[in-house]
Formats: sequence, structure tokens, C-alpha cells
Amino acid sequence: MEALPSYERWGDLSGKRVLVRVDFNTPVAPVDGRLEVSDDFRIRSCVALFEELMALGATVVACTHFGRPKGTVDPRYSVEPVRRRLAELCPGVELMENLRFHPGEEANDPAFGASLVEGFDYYVNEAFSASHRAHASIMIPPTLVPSAAGPNLRREVATLGALLDAPARPFVAIVGGAKVADKLGVVRVLAEKADTVLVGGGMAYTFCVAQGRTIGASLVDGSFLDECRELLAGSKVLIPTDSRGLEVGQPFGGAGGPDPALTFGADIPDGFLGLDIGPAAIEAFVAVIASAATVLWNGPMGVFEDARFGAGTEAVARAVAASGAVSVVGGGDSVAALQAYGLDGAFSFVSTGGGASLEFVELGDLPGLAALRESPFP
Ligand code: ADP
Ligand code: MG
Repeated sequence: MEALPSYERWGDLSGKRVLVRVDFNTPVAPVDGRLEVSDDFRIRSCVALFEELMALGATVVACTHFGRPKGTVDPRYSVEPVRRRLAELCPGVELMENLRFHPGEEANDPAFGASLVEGFDYYVNEAFSASHRAHASIMIPPTLVPSAAGPNLRREVATLGALLDAPARPFVAIVGGAKVADKLGVVRVLAEKADTVLVGGGMAYTFCVAQGRTIGASLVDGSFLDECRELLAGSKVLIPTDSRGLEVGQPFGGAGGPDPALTFGADIPDGFLGLDIGPAAIEAFVAVIASAATVLWNGPMGVFEDARFGAGTEAVARAVAASGAVSVVGGGDSVAALQAYGLDGAFSFVSTGGGASLEFVELGDLPGLAALRESPFP
């Protein structure tokens, strides 16, 4: 891929105004009656860039989406809590109000995009995790002002690119999560590039059905059975041979529940459902991971928010950490699981972009990256 343009080429920025598109769509929680940022990782990760631009003389304004206000001004989605935290971490940087208060953002409206860079000399895209969306703040500025890729975005692209182009082998990919529809495209690509693809989580049950197994009331998407069957025939995709779960109607989820987890073999009877990979699957997956030289992981192996169904995800996380492999993890829930187990520091790279990293793996490019490369300015 052609290199992404960088801001170093602009040199001195005295008197210049720089618009930086960030992804400060951070979690917030009420503290003493008002919302405060509860995880400022994404804000902290941009401070060095902001400080560098200001040191070059620039006035820096950041812009972000925040939640899903759906094109209307909704005070519940104001960036105000983010503004307060940003002012503490990096005084002097202004933050525009939520881009999604305007319908033009998600509609990729050229006029809205133009209004964003009015009065600005330069644009920096530092929002890898939003660059799979062809939204106005991502797509339009590079057509209007000299534009560059921010350092975090470049690092994401370089890390994922290297892993897909020339991985140390064996290259083991681990894919999980709820919906097979979200990640089947990525499994297809990884079945080409990796040596083994371990599939767990809710999405694995569609593969189980494709194999002729019964899954009770577990998650399934009948429209992907043929494709799952084809992938299984390629022999690189490994699915769980057993499960842990519950009887239908027994509560589960973040709040937990009173019923002990049940263990099922290859088949899950009617009236029951699978919520985690089982002990034999854990053993098989861990053995594959132990010999990996490269690991790419996206999606938990079970309903890890419920401690009864976190064993698969935790065992896989520990195996990756212990393997010594180059390890890259993406996906909001996967990263949250690693943080909960205190293992995020044991991975080589934690990608901020769930959907964006999946799309980059699948298609090898993102609309926002193409917009930067195609920007006509020197
Ligand atoms: P990520 O955010 O890492 O990309 P996903 O959003 O795709 O991951 O999937 C995470 C969700 O999948 C979690 O909420 C988890 O509870 C759910 N999940 C995992 N396994 C199952 C399962 N067997 N049945 C239902 N939901 C599952
Ligand atoms: Mg998720």
C-alpha cells in the first residue's frame, strides 16, 4: 500500500490552525450527579500529538463522534465530559461538539465536511477506529486541505499490515464474539493468511450446525451454513468440540445468575444453550496457541461478562500471554476482557479499532485511509 502522508512535511506551523479528527468515544459514568470519563485511554493516547503540533506553533482543535445521537442535538451525548478530561490532560486544545449532532456527518455530506475545515489550514486523521466509516469528518477534509495520518493511526496500520503481509509462523488467528454475520468475512480471509483459525463464542455454533451437530437454543445464523461448511472443509478452521452453558430461561449476563454452568459434549440438547467453549475445546485451543509465533485475536470465547462463562476467554488470553508470540488484539469486548484479567499489558499490540481492524484485515484498506492517500495536496 502507498504510504500515508505525515504531518512532519508541513514543518513550522506558527499561526496555523490544525483540525485533528480523533475517536474520543470513551465510556462515561455518573460521578456526583454528572457524567465523567471512566476510561481516558483514547484521550491520553493523543496528548503527545497535540503537544507536538502546539510546539510547532499550531492552534489545535479536535473533533470526535460520541455515542449515537442520530443527527440531532441531544445533550445526553454532549462531549462536555470529554472536554473536561481533555482540559486536564492537555490544556490549550479545543474540542468541537459531537460531530453526530449534525446529520451531515454520517451522511458524508460534502457541505458539512467543508464547514468543519473552514478556517483551518491542515487536517490530521488520528481516528483509526472510525476510519472504516465513510463519514464526512473522515472523508471530506482530505479533499479540501493538506492532510495527514496521525501517529496512532499509522501504528495501527503498520502493525496490522505487517501481521498480514509477513507474519512469523505458525500464525494463529482467534475469532469469537456473538454474531457470525459480523466476522465471517474475516474468518474467510484469515483462513487464507493464517495457519490455524480458532473460532469460539456464539459465532461458533453456526459452524457446529454446519457440521451436523445439534446446538439447542444457542446462537445460530442459518444464512451462513454453506459458507461455514466450506471453511471447515479447508481444514484450517478449528471449532470447539464441547461447551458450557445453561438451561433455557436460566438468567445469565453481566449480572450473573444463581445456576451453576453445565458442560455439554459435541451436541447440546433441546432446551439448553451454549455460552462458553468447554474444557476439551480449551485444551485444544491452548495447545494450538502454545506453539504460535503470531496471534491475532478478535472476539471473546464466551459470555465472559458472566464469570461462569469466562473460562474459555481467560484460558485463551493466558495462553496467548504465555506463548511469547507476537500478539495483536482488537475488539471492544476482547480488550475489556483482557483488562479485566490484567493481561492487556502482556499483548504486543492492543488495537483501538474493533470494526476498523476487522475491516482492515478483511479488505486490506479503509475508506478513511484511501481518502488520506488520495488527498491532492503536497
Ligand atoms: P468484540 O467487541 O471483542 O469484537 P463482539 O462484540 O463481537 O466482540 O462479541 C462480544 C459479545 O459476544 C459479548 O457480549 C459476549 O457476551 C457475546 N458472546 C460470546 N459468546 C457468546 C455465546 N456463546 N452466546 C451469546 N453471546 C456470546
Ligand atoms: Mg463488541
